[in-house]
Amino acid sequence: MSMKYDLHMHSTVSDGTLSVDDLVSEVAKAGVDCMALTDHDTVDGIEAALQACDDKAIQCIPGVEISITWNGQVIHILGLNINHNNNKLKHGLNKLLEFRKWRAEAIANKLGKAGIPDALAGAARYAKGSLIGRMHFARFLVEQGICADIRSVFKKYLVRGKPGHVTGEWASLEDALSWIRDAGGIAAIAHPARYRLTATRLRALIEDFSEAGGSAYEVVSGSHNDNEIRSMAGYCDKYQLYATAGSDYHGPENQWLHLGRLPTIPEPLVPVWQHPDWPAPLAS
Ligand code: AMP
Ligand code: MN
Ligand code: MN
Ligand code: MN
Repeated sequence: MSMKYDLHMHSTVSDGTLSVDDLVSEVAKAGVDCMALTDHDTVDGIEAALQACDDKAIQCIPGVEISITWNGQVIHILGLNINHNNNKLKHGLNKLLEFRKWRAEAIANKLGKAGIPDALAGAARYAKGSLIGRMHFARFLVEQGICADIRSVFKKYLVRGKPGHVTGEWASLEDALSWIRDAGGIAAIAHPARYRLTATRLRALIEDFSEAGGSAYEVVSGSHNDNEIRSMAGYCDKYQLYATAGSDYHGPENQWLHLGRLPTIPEPLVPVWQHPDWPAPLAS
């Protein structure tokens, strides 16, 4: 029997809605054999994930999804199979958490000017002591009846050109890749079709990424349709990257997206779990 992988998901440690323990329970129910916890800009959930997976005989790959700014565009880079105790990585991520604190205040100020008071406290309530992301603001605005759903909050308030949008510098591509490399991990470009880059810009991103030592590409993603998978598979093959697959699960509220229910990685791509640095599967 082949193994079931899901190498991209979030817990309440960033902007998911399930605690690490509840998430791992859902992963077990979904029949996933190998998971990666990839919270945004933090590895604070990894110890708990390792523990919970150990109890359920699931292979746990320590991961992270790092926010970077590349040529003015926010891109997400996955670090898979990282040593989550690595100091350089932790130090780098801490700087991003500082930026998030500043940004959360800035977003709240802008929303205040747009007639939505107390958004910082509201978002913090959803973040429950973890980092504050745009998702937490989105949940607060839905709660307040300002928008009907998360999607429309992003569209009306939180994306470029909208009243609650704040720009700023995340990590550089080179820094993010050096942290991942220092922590012994494999870097992957997350959900590459989601950025809607032109072919020329996507090629430039992949070339910069490869040059900086990146070796994997998230061809199969919960946010890619079949056409996007096919198209991204072409890039992955052309640039000889390892293909990865992940749902980008954030919790059961999104009823269209499920853990572990992913299309197979198209031939002739080489899955990231065949990378020489990938750990051996659990003995059964
Ligand atoms: P942040 O890293 O705080 O800027 O927030 C990025 C996160 O917001 C992503 O990881 C998604 O979870 C969520 N997100 C971004 N855009 C959308 C959207 N259009 N609809 C729903 N969620 C979104
Ligand atoms: Mn997210
Ligand atoms: Mn992402
Ligand atoms: Mn994600």
